[in-house]
Amino acid sequence: MTSEERNRIIVIGGGAAGMMAAAAAAQSGSHVELFERNEKLGKKIYITGKGRCNLTNNCGKDAFLEQVCSNRRFLYSALEQWDSADTMRFFEENGTPVKTERGNRVFPVSDHASDVTAALQRCMKRLGVQVHLNSRVKRLLLEKECPVPEDSGGRIRGVELENGEKHFASAVIVATGGLSYPSTGSEGDGYRFAGEAGLKVTPCRPSLVAMETAGEEAPQMQGLSLKNVQVRVKDGKKVLFEEFGEMMFTHFGVSGPLMLSASAIVGKKLADRPLSLEIDLKSALTPEQLDERILREFAAASNRKIANVAGTLYPAKLIPVMLHHCGIDPDTPVRDITKAQRKALVEHTKRFVLTLTALRGYNEAVITAGGVSVKEVKPDTMECKTVRGLYFAGEVLDLDARTGGFNLQIAWTTGHAAGTAAAK
Ligand SMILES: Cc1cc2nc3c(=O)[nH]c(=O)nc-3n(C[C@H](O)[C@H](O)[C@H](O)COP(=O)(O)OP(=O)(O)OC[C@H]3O[C@@H](n4cnc5c(N)ncnc54)[C@H](O)[C@@H]3O)c2cc1C
Repeated sequence: MTSEERNRIIVIGGGAAGMMAAAAAAQSGSHVELFERNEKLGKKIYITGKGRCNLTNNCGKDAFLEQVCSNRRFLYSALEQWDSADTMRFFEENGTPVKTERGNRVFPVSDHASDVTAALQRCMKRLGVQVHLNSRVKRLLLEKECPVPEDSGGRIRGVELENGEKHFASAVIVATGGLSYPSTGSEGDGYRFAGEAGLKVTPCRPSLVAMETAGEEAPQMQGLSLKNVQVRVKDGKKVLFEEFGEMMFTHFGVSGPLMLSASAIVGKKLADRPLSLEIDLKSALTPEQLDERILREFAAASNRKIANVAGTLYPAKLIPVMLHHCGIDPDTPVRDITKAQRKALVEHTKRFVLTLTALRGYNEAVITAGGVSVKEVKPDTMECKTVRGLYFAGEVLDLDARTGGFNLQIAWTTGHAAGTAAAK
């Protein structure tokens, strides 16, 4: 290795993690080259937070870690080095002021995700990072004959591009993202690189994603959005997820913030078997209070058809489905509704049950759960334990969190740790 190569760091991927890693390494004095397969940097960042980029969450470390779904303990030491306060300061210092909104979600003041990428680009330019666009890395170049003491994995030598060019370096940081929204450039190359280097990759699945349901009920209600409902996802009798919030029905099943959060918790189980989804449609009322309310509505309109009266209790799209669930003919006059039918209405309103059958695909998933096993990587530096000089950062790692800016913070935190350590 020449002296120039000894001080050169290669970053694969110009997303959130890769750009932060490149900036951190260059800040520490290294010559950094970043290879991005797309024609521009940060393609995924542009679509985050509905184009506004919820770039982090303005909360303490413990609150942050509570929102991490997989391998949260792994993040402790990296978060000590770079947390959400550091992220906010970084963007402020690089010309993108930020603001904190509901739920501690942090956005650029401009409400433009492009300003997040612009700040990173400005920083990289100032520090002399050399960016190569339209440059897809094909494989890692490993030097097997130079083992580290504890294993025979060897050391990294550099990368080979798709066009056959070889670039050599003392350290390579893999920040190629996961499998979600592959149109942004993340097609899982990093998992292949890790596999070729002999590292374990935890099986992947889409996460923060909508879910499919059995039967025709959800499609019949497509477009219906429900606020302040309580949902429970159960595997047999075991409750896997229980929360209040907002959800919606679609042509294939269920979506909305509550369902995306549920997917992150129940996704692994759902890959094995169907799960039951119980929705409490009137979570503010006890069954007794609901029964009283129904009696009041019925007393005020005893000669009208139930399908018309039910509009005071349910949104229009829910009425035929609910009456069908309860075995009530929509043309039945309210005065003829039996006590048993009223009881059924109360029961199905408090516990409307659908069957979840599958997660939707990577094209619709906010993140990928699974990835390069964190057991292969040192938590303070992101360096691979068996291949010296090889680092991983961002979504390519087996780390994922809930919505709220936590996933991008994982990218900033791991990217910063990898860049800083690689430069040493
Ligand atoms: C619709 C949507 C909205 C989201 N909103 C938010 C949000 O508001 N807040 C939040 O915290 N998180 C959000 N996320 C999640 C967040 O975007 C990701 O967690 C984050 O972008 C991961 O960063 P990364 O750098 O690890 O991967 P990526 O952003 O996927 O970047 C990887 C980069 O590597 C490049 N690459 C891949 N393979 C190669 C190769 N072989 N050679 C060269 N380059 C390569 C890709 O082109 C890509 O540019 C959202 C995700 C989606 C899909």
